[in-house]
Amino acid sequence: MDEVRTSHHTLTLVTLEPRVTQCDLCPLSKTRRHAVFGEGDADAEVMFVGEGPGEAEDRTGRPFVGAAGQKLDEVFASVGIVRETIYITNVVKCRPPENRVPTKKEMQACWPFLEAQIALINPSLIVPLGNTPVQWLSPGVGGITGIRGTFLDWRGGIQLFPMFHPSYLLRNPSRAKGSPKYLTWLDIQKVRTWLDEHAGRKDA
Ligand code: SF4
Repeated sequence: MDEVRTSHHTLTLVTLEPRVTQCDLCPLSKTRRHAVFGEGDADAEVMFVGEGPGEAEDRTGRPFVGAAGQKLDEVFASVGIVRETIYITNVVKCRPPENRVPTKKEMQACWPFLEAQIALINPSLIVPLGNTPVQWLSPGVGGITGIRGTFLDWRGGIQLFPMFHPSYLLRNPSRAKGSPKYLTWLDIQKVRTWLDEHAGRKDA
């Protein structure tokens, strides 16, 4: 993977994608149907990072297209965010069997891809969705329930803003004050504000 790390000057998302779709660096390659690279604006200000593909994503090769993806679209729509203006991917690009949490080894094997995506897209905000991506990106930072909706300094001037994973909202449908849904609707408004405040940063 040194090649990915050392060739950012020539590497683009377009040339990186086939390395992912043809990757066999970890055992998940043996059970996946399609690796899911990620999609959205290659110059996005905000990147959303989930845990890994599920069944629908494995079948289609696209991120967040199943029930959780539809829930995420609802969350986006509540503040007028369209997917084409953000970038969305996962910590591991291939589906873990039975949707289990990816192992540390699998996340390690896949990390150069996400790292390269972050370097190429150069967002100012990364939104880890759920516990797995936030623990991977910032180990020891604390559980998702305590840190969601807060801005955390990460690296290279990038901030993390953890939010609940949309599948957690599917399991907790209440909209009552303080519920995961209620909190997520508050959180996405902060992302909207971030987008508004940072619009045009990359053109400056
Ligand atoms: Fe390669 Fe990542 Fe898929 Fe593992 S999960 S085979 S490292 S693309």
